[in-house]
Amino acid sequence: MSILFHDSIFGPLKSRRLGISLGVNLLPANGKICTFNCIYCECGWNKKGKPTGTLADKEAVEHALEERLTTLRGTELEPDSITFSGNGEPTLHPQFPAIIDSTIRLRNQYCPKAKVSVLTNGTRVFAPSVFAALQRVDNNIIKLDGGTLHCIDALDQPNIQFNLKAYIDQLKRFNGNLIIQTLFLRGRHNGVTIDNTTDEEVALWLEHLVAIQPKRVMMYVIERETPEQDLEKIDKKELELIAEKVRSLGIETDIYA
Ligand code: SF4
Repeated sequence: MSILFHDSIFGPLKSRRLGISLGVNLLPANGKICTFNCIYCECGWNKKGKPTGTLADKEAVEHALEERLTTLRGTELEPDSITFSGNGEPTLHPQFPAIIDSTIRLRNQYCPKAKVSVLTNGTRVFAPSVFAALQRVDNNIIKLDGGTLHCIDALDQPNIQFNLKAYIDQLKRFNGNLIIQTLFLRGRHNGVTIDNTTDEEVALWLEHLVAIQPKRVMMYVIERETPEQDLEKIDKKELELIAEKVRSLGIETDIYA
């Protein structure tokens, strides 16, 4: 069963990676929109969750966020993070940069200790306004699910043209002001075997990390039901071995398994 968020502001939820997280969903409430179609996506397949609704209205998001922050501040549920995620890729919203700015303003006013976090697949980093907005948030968390284009294509199934070299070059332009997120798995989809834990994949992925120099790497595994059933959750010990290779490069990493 896939998870869709029916409000523009949802939670707070306890997040493995971000603590008490108040979610922001800029995508339609009744479906998913994404430039990827990851075989592990908790929102399900793109075509199954095709929305009929509209993108979130900027003023309505700001109003709802202000209301929630007012209610939550000073309570045990005061958020550690205001997190853009939701039903697909948040940076696809045409007013994403302006909404980031109002979120930072509201955070400063009501819950100054909360981080503003964006979980993004990174495909919109070539748009200058999105690139600049991601520079303004505390946690700019960008996906890199493999070392080879072949693996990323199989795992994330981009429905746009995805050029890995251009992508890495663009991520380098953040000058370290980004966090890389990578989900490790093995499995099969449409008759193709997929494994981003092989020595070859990990070696190339590490090369990309050296080029990008992120401030940290979040490594994680499947947690909930996935649209493709034939996937294997990677064992924590195995992930720890990969994490050690990241640390040996002088890059901080956390594993969530
Ligand atoms: S990028 Fe995120 S929202 Fe898009 S398909 Fe992948 S997991 Fe789902």
